[in-house]
Amino acid sequence: MITQLLKNFNSYGFQYDLLDWYYENKRDLPWRENQDPYKVWVSEIMLQQTKVDTVIPYFHRFLDKFPTVYELAKADEQEVLKTWEGLGYYSRAKNLQSAVKEVVETYEGKVPDNPEELGALKGVGPYTKGAILSIAYNQPEPAVDGNVMRVFSRILKIEDDIAQAKTRKKMEAIVREVISKDDPSSFNQAIMDLGATICTPKSPACLLCPVQDYCRAFEEGVQEELPVKKKAKKQKTMAYTVLLIKNQKGDYVIEKRPDSGLLANLWQFPMVPFSEIGEENVEKWMRQEYGLSLELKEKKGDLTHVFSHIKWELEIFEAETTEEKADDGRLTLVSQEELKDYPFPVSHQKMMKYL
Ligand code: SF4
Repeated sequence: MITQLLKNFNSYGFQYDLLDWYYENKRDLPWRENQDPYKVWVSEIMLQQTKVDTVIPYFHRFLDKFPTVYELAKADEQEVLKTWEGLGYYSRAKNLQSAVKEVVETYEGKVPDNPEELGALKGVGPYTKGAILSIAYNQPEPAVDGNVMRVFSRILKIEDDIAQAKTRKKMEAIVREVISKDDPSSFNQAIMDLGATICTPKSPACLLCPVQDYCRAFEEGVQEELPVKKKAKKQKTMAYTVLLIKNQKGDYVIEKRPDSGLLANLWQFPMVPFSEIGEENVEKWMRQEYGLSLELKEKKGDLTHVFSHIKWELEIFEAETTEEKADDGRLTLVSQEELKDYPFPVSHQKMMKYL
């Protein structure tokens, strides 16, 4: 199958033209200053689901705080989450820290350079593994994500659904064949750059493309129709009433989320799992669930937050409590000043303007 696809494909010419372009045009990114595997690792984890421009300041901040695996391994998890605050998908940060602890404990602080050990670390999937092995250790390993699949779907005019796991496997097999064995590090980064700057999802800049001569989709004028990606299921909508509860001292009630699942271990303002339920019901529910008595005040606003599979529809209310302490183990009362020491998900950070 792969042999058939690559029949008549000039891999050497493709590598040559791609690398030639990359050496001249590569993006100046902070994790490219050297081939430090830890930095490559952090950057690749941050770049999952997040754009380069957003990642850059976070990357600097994270590396200032945790410059090597040793500082990250011994850091307090809340501090790691705080540094990650705003990037979303917080399990990435938690998994990264667990994996880094293993690197320190089992591999004397050296990020493994073989696929088995590296791939067994928490949060290191096939893409991250390939990126570290190729970019940092210069091994001819594929690092296939959505961008890379888009580029190869077009170049080889592959019409398989890229949402399917078997298509990713096929793409990995293709990259293994066509990757430069002399400079696999640059090859994979060049494909990433091509996907980010030229072969973009909409309106690819084919006229500027260094590998246009090799591109079958361009030859047939079907580049805009590729890659094929079947629609994922619609997100499930969940409605909540969010409570900004203040006591007489001016302290706010906040709640730690469970230690697994969505936004694990982050902090939030208490969320009543339904909206438009009426004052008495919110007050009763909070008393029953958290042992906290409160009085609902005015509505402050609405907010929608979309995750990959879930959509939150939030109604935000001000409330007052006479409690000086929160008795429930999940809740705590903190001053407005102290709020900034706790990691909050983006949706709840946005509500701070109502305090
Ligand atoms: Fe992408 Fe166009 Fe280049 Fe083909 S020619 S790889 S579609 S930018």
